[in-house]
Amino acid sequence: VFTAQAVAAAPEDPLFGLMKAYREDPAENKVDLGIGAYRDDNAKPWILPVVKKADNAIHNDPTLNHEYLSIGGLPEFTAAAQKLIVGSDSPAIREKRICSLQTISGTGAVHLGGLFLSKFHPNKPSLYLSSPTWANHHQIFTNVGLTLGNYPYFSKETKGLDFDGMLQAIQGAPAGSVILLHACAHNPTGVDPTQEQWKQIATVMRQKNHFPFFDCAYQGFASGDLARDAWAIQYFVEQRFELCVAQSFAKNFGLYGERTGAFHFVSAPGADASNASAHIASQLAILQRSEISNPPAYGARIASRVLNDPALFKEWEADLRTMSGRIQEMRKGLRLRLEKRGTPGSWAHITDQIGMFSFTGLSEGQVKVLRDKWHVYMTKNGRISMAGLNSHNLDYFAEAVDSVVR
Ligand code: PLP
Repeated sequence: VFTAQAVAAAPEDPLFGLMKAYREDPAENKVDLGIGAYRDDNAKPWILPVVKKADNAIHNDPTLNHEYLSIGGLPEFTAAAQKLIVGSDSPAIREKRICSLQTISGTGAVHLGGLFLSKFHPNKPSLYLSSPTWANHHQIFTNVGLTLGNYPYFSKETKGLDFDGMLQAIQGAPAGSVILLHACAHNPTGVDPTQEQWKQIATVMRQKNHFPFFDCAYQGFASGDLARDAWAIQYFVEQRFELCVAQSFAKNFGLYGERTGAFHFVSAPGADASNASAHIASQLAILQRSEISNPPAYGARIASRVLNDPALFKEWEADLRTMSGRIQEMRKGLRLRLEKRGTPGSWAHITDQIGMFSFTGLSEGQVKVLRDKWHVYMTKNGRISMAGLNSHNLDYFAEAVDSVVR
């Protein structure tokens, strides 16, 4: 029989534990490089000006109310999200072979995709994750009963991509496996394949008949250019893959707590593709109904206003450049300071890596000293959120790193 006493305490989520420890640290010069959320130059959350504008318009819109959205979400939001991710002139849209549902941000989209594959894939294939990957991937896919595999991703020597290892593992995976790929700004490493490397990955995946599952949580955040950050997805669609995409608007709109995202399934081209797509949409709707009934309206309304209004869209692109530009400045600033100090080791990877995170190469022991002695908080794998750095703490952080590395 079930008894409450029989349930053991679960370990604290490492990232949220880190945030709590940071909050409770009274030191004035403490630095938070843990959570992957954008901060401005004063280490404060930043509401995008374009989001504020859309938000005001929503508040003053007398036609809106608090009724349920439909199961699939706000149609003008999902249609715009679709265009953003595969490109507005994509054959997948033209041929009606992409179906999209609004989800509980990127996490909900990853989950819905995992659940769908575990229910409908006839062979129960293994799903391969990059090593390392976003920690939540393991839990989400395990929860829906998928078996997991890994492919190498990060080279400790070069602090760049272990491309040969990655390709070999993808080649070695049983035919028809699901391969999870970070579309851009890989979390936690900040290392992405080049376009040439993506092409080779696609070639191997085609040979092995693998199914690509893209996780896209940072579109516009990596390069500051929305189309460039979706290049890999659009290339795979062009190459006629059947695939799915989990899309988050948490980071690129700063809508973290509003849980705004979408799940897209692209069926391979063919005479029956639009029919297949409709069937998939109907099954996804059933899954969604049983899990969340219908997604939350607020964030989707904001994103939808911006995505569907050309003037606001331009403002959004400028806001994205503000965020990605500041992060790039911090990368340059950190590398420069470490090199000026002659801090042992090479620091080129700080500017080679892109997006929200940098995999510094600092060891678990060094991370601990940074926390205990310097009040600098980061995950123990040595990942730092670049957005936590700013013009006020960059010198201090460089000094701290220098001291623990020597
Ligand atoms: N996927 C990756 C790789 C991420 O880094 C994140 C956020 O950190 C997510 C998905 C999902 O984020 P959210 O559910 O907040 O959209």
